[in-house]
Amino acid sequence: RVAVVGAGVTGLAATKCCLAEGLEPTCFEQSQDIGGLWRYTEHIEAGRPSLYPSVISNTSKEMSAFSDFPFPEHFPVFLPNALLLDYLRRYAERFSLREHITFGTTVVSIRKQPDFATTGQWNVVTEAGGKQTSHVFDAVMVCSGSFSEPSLPLQCFPGIERFRGQYFHSRQYKHPDVFQGKRVLVVGMGNSGVDIAVEASRVAAKVTISTTRGAWLLSRVFERGYPWDMILNTRFMSLIKTNLPGPLSWWLINYKVNQWFNHENYGLQPENSWLVREPLLNDDLPSYILTGRITIRPGVKEFKDSSVLFHNCPEEEPIDIVVFCTGYTISFPFLEESVVRVENKHASLYKYVFPTHLQKPTLAVLGLIKPFGAIMPVVEMQARWVSRVFKGLCQLPPQSVMEKEVNEKKKNQIQWFGLTFDEVLKTEWLVYLDTLASFIGAKPSVLGLLCTDPWLALTIFFGPCSPYQYRLGGPGRWEGARQAILTQWDRVLKPTRTRVPAGSSSSFPSLLTLVGFLLLLAAVIFGF
Ligand code: NAP
Repeated sequence: RVAVVGAGVTGLAATKCCLAEGLEPTCFEQSQDIGGLWRYTEHIEAGRPSLYPSVISNTSKEMSAFSDFPFPEHFPVFLPNALLLDYLRRYAERFSLREHITFGTTVVSIRKQPDFATTGQWNVVTEAGGKQTSHVFDAVMVCSGSFSEPSLPLQCFPGIERFRGQYFHSRQYKHPDVFQGKRVLVVGMGNSGVDIAVEASRVAAKVTISTTRGAWLLSRVFERGYPWDMILNTRFMSLIKTNLPGPLSWWLINYKVNQWFNHENYGLQPENSWLVREPLLNDDLPSYILTGRITIRPGVKEFKDSSVLFHNCPEEEPIDIVVFCTGYTISFPFLEESVVRVENKHASLYKYVFPTHLQKPTLAVLGLIKPFGAIMPVVEMQARWVSRVFKGLCQLPPQSVMEKEVNEKKKNQIQWFGLTFDEVLKTEWLVYLDTLASFIGAKPSVLGLLCTDPWLALTIFFGPCSPYQYRLGGPGRWEGARQAILTQWDRVLKPTRTRVPAGSSSSFPSLLTLVGFLLLLAAVIFGF
């Protein structure tokens, strides 16, 4: 019996994967519906994430799908939040997940049973309608997400206490009318900051974004109009990124992202460091900077009564309203610190999932990771691995090995080869997926396929690493995986080629074929 905490994207995947392994999941969801982050509500509910209604997914539908459940072909390539929720509802329906979810029930504590050392069991206390109930479970999957608690570090902003204008955290933001005719300052250039600044600038008198570090900005519409993640997250690109010396990988990224526009000219250039931060996804920001609707400034030095001073800028800027888009903090209020300790925006977990020091590996935290790609296939892969560990079909390494790896990660040292990220939770998407897939025997073998199904081998090596690749073989093999991979570009083009009937699928893969075959041949010969 497995307790699953939360029925968002991660909790749904966890429940489904438990069922696939013959485990008995009970998913506790504090609200009355599924969807977590992706279920928009007009009012903000304590303990739940809060979206603004205009949020659109940053990753494309083919790269964001659960591995055995493609998005409907008529859905747009990037998904407005309502359609993403629609997809989750279809997923819950298709795999009959609702009957395993207990709604309106909050998990208040998870403690080891007294005989934990031998049974690995947990005492889970839940609360519903003011009444607490205690349950015993053999294992727990924590899927409670990390976007419910805003980080509002006011102590980092001298003078904020005497600022007479309005200020709030991005979590409070819903509609741009609050900015009508105002001079707006957006603090923090993450994805929330850029989205909100762009919306505000359509009605505000003036919009300024303050960023301490700058960031790379990508467009959803990437090279030749294809979705960015279907071009960048390929096995071929990953091989290059992870095997080139660090500075060369960094230069390559610099070169690629500056093709759209020169980040330095637009005030966006990330500070000169070898640490890569999460790229921003926004199609409007460069043109809004170019047309003067948005100005980029450095970090805030000080707030005054009705203005702000920026570092390295002598003049004060009059401001009426400030939106702190300063991200979120992670916490697990129902867990003891001795089980999962959060420090410096991460927790010490083996492969971002398992506490290293438990006598039995019966508790896992899912979704506490920031991969550079779609999160849904990642949490699904975590759930597939975790349910097999719970079932006893996969073993974890000895504690000392796990601890060593976690401690190495914590140091977040610059790598000689490949990329190093600015936060411990950030990681290479494809490398991480492959690692977990290899644990459960679901990692596709490109070389093996080259002998049996060369066209598929080329498609999965040079084409986007769509999640269906992890259902070609191994446990949970899906009959439809090969077909889903070979038709992925059709589903991308279907909702856009709406005037002229779609002919053959994209020319993109076929263009790659010749070059691809030669490169793959070279890779085999040189022993990649
Ligand atoms: P975030 O990515 O954590 O960014 C927060 C930003 O706040 C930091 O990058 C930093 O910006 C600034 N900041 C933090 N602490 C600060 C301090 N003490 N002083 C000054 N500035 C500080 O938060 P977010 O933008 O809310 O995004 C949260 C997650 O949701 C991200 O993974 C994001 O990609 C995701 N998201 C997705 C979508 C979408 O799918 N469409 C939309 C929104 C958010 P500077 O370095 O620039 O100063």
